[in-house]
Amino acid sequence: MYQHELPPAVICETRPGKIVCVGRNYAEHAKELNNPLDSTPLLFIKPTTAAVPMAGDIAIPRDRGEVHHELEMSVLIGAVLTNATCAQVEDAIIGIGLAYDLTLRDLQSELKKKAHPWERAKAFDGACALSPFVSAVGVNLQSLSLQLRKNGALQQSGNTADMIFPVLALVAEMSQNFSLLPGDVILTGTPAGVSPLHAGDELEAKLGDLLTIVSRVV
Ligand code: ZN
Repeated sequence: MYQHELPPAVICETRPGKIVCVGRNYAEHAKELNNPLDSTPLLFIKPTTAAVPMAGDIAIPRDRGEVHHELEMSVLIGAVLTNATCAQVEDAIIGIGLAYDLTLRDLQSELKKKAHPWERAKAFDGACALSPFVSAVGVNLQSLSLQLRKNGALQQSGNTADMIFPVLALVAEMSQNFSLLPGDVILTGTPAGVSPLHAGDELEAKLGDLLTIVSRVV
């Protein structure tokens, strides 16, 4: 059972609801995978069964091709949002954190070629590693650094200032398409620097000076 951990801030101790994700929300990452930029956000959903704790051991699928890390800022929703305004979204955000949107990249490339949905590559058990959430009160969501060190070397480095669709507008747009419920989690996209994971990799992820999460790939 996935549980958000205790301090630095206790926000949610239940299993998360659906996990709504956006692709290509940082231009440099879209470029590294040769993806075009869209005028509306590219959305997809991971089921609750994909969620696992981010700290500690992270198990990745074997023999299914490359598994890439995508380090992302996560947002925890605390109210029902249907056709919400940005102000309503702001009031509904009760926590922020870090996440790995784990992706079977070879499989995703095949699915893209066939114009099939991405669930087989992004919705498997364990495909969404989530950190505990900390309070978002007083935090500028569009001015947070995101950093991932893999085996000690800087692998991903970005800033939420560089999002193409900023958090409030992004979540409002999601809510035009389907309702968000308390406990739902939003993944806000990954900056450049995605790469394959291997058993034994040591990961250290940072969200500004709010969170540091250490993980080991098994
Ligand atoms: Zn992602």
